[in-house]
Amino acid sequence: MNLIQNLYEQKLTTYPRVDTTYLSEDIYPKVPGILEKLQFYKRFTDKLKGKKIRKSKKVFDDKKVTDHHAIIPTGVTPSGISAQHQKVYDMITKRFISVFYPDCKVSNSTVLGFVKEVKFKATGKQILEMGWREVYADTSPKEQAKEPQKEEQVMPVFVKGEKGPHTPDFQEKHTKPPSYYSEATLLRAMESAGKQVDDDELRDIMKENGIGRPSTRANIIETLFKRNYIARQKKRIIATQTGQHLISLIENDILKSAELTGQWEKKIRDIERGEYAVEKFKAELFDMVNELVHQVKHQKAEPKKIGCPKCSKGHMIRGRSAWGCSEWESGCKFTLPFKFKEITFSDKDMKSLIEEGESHYRFKRMVKKKEELSKVTLNKKLKLEW
Ligand SMILES: [Zn+2]
Repeated sequence: MNLIQNLYEQKLTTYPRVDTTYLSEDIYPKVPGILEKLQFYKRFTDKLKGKKIRKSKKVFDDKKVTDHHAIIPTGVTPSGISAQHQKVYDMITKRFISVFYPDCKVSNSTVLGFVKEVKFKATGKQILEMGWREVYADTSPKEQAKEPQKEEQVMPVFVKGEKGPHTPDFQEKHTKPPSYYSEATLLRAMESAGKQVDDDELRDIMKENGIGRPSTRANIIETLFKRNYIARQKKRIIATQTGQHLISLIENDILKSAELTGQWEKKIRDIERGEYAVEKFKAELFDMVNELVHQVKHQKAEPKKIGCPKCSKGHMIRGRSAWGCSEWESGCKFTLPFKFKEITFSDKDMKSLIEEGESHYRFKRMVKKKEELSKVTLNKKLKLEW
């Protein structure tokens, strides 16, 4: 963020704190002039010279641009900038040039094979014409590998209709656990957070925003470092003991999920449209913080085992999406989901549902467009109901 901010201040690139990848249509007539000025990139811009600049909807779209368009070079020639600044500048400039190059042409192949009656299918592609990839052709393979989109499998050349026996090649491989986040992958994960949110409406709202804003995401991560919740281990980001302890103290799952951001985004949007009062939103935040502090202050260090209400032999254990009876292997199928309607239960809710038959606090919910307080209960048949 600092590097791009410096480039902007030196007037080498346009306004950086944007979350669009589109250009406004008023940029289009300025494109040949900017390309002309990029003298260090002459080997790429020469190929576009004298030709009509392509105007793709994937690049120019006023509807996708609000205050500022995507980051592009201004045409001012950089001089005396550091190697790191140079790298960032190069990324922006190459991307800018490449969008005016022709498409990369690929041939998609599907190969069907079978061993006796067992069928196998392989799909992949061959690059026929490099197109925009020419701009990236001199990037080292290591750099190319960092590109966000995973390349499809590149296939050997097959002639259409080709058939005949082939010698099989066996390879033994192992799957790997997901790798640790680096700062770059964590930023990307924040951008796309919300994909895992179940609620359709919230997921849709989050698709555009993720967690944070382009201008704040790096600072959010920085704050976690400063407060010692996460630490660097070479390029990896790892959770510290303090961080893990903090997360384990917060029983309320909603605070730890991307869904809360989604709910807030929705309310902020409703405020924009005048359908929701700012004061109400603030009051809700105060309530929530109060409730959370209360919960953390009053919970015991070691949670007591909660007995199973069905078989009374087992106790409740946390699974992936529900609590279940520890005696499941001997046939007790009792489970209590983490979520019921729009409510996410905490461990404390689970305890009071089982021991007292009802949730320990009341939930606000909309009933016929009016807000009502209601409780969740576990009935005699061990089913949840409002
Ligand atoms: Zn049981």
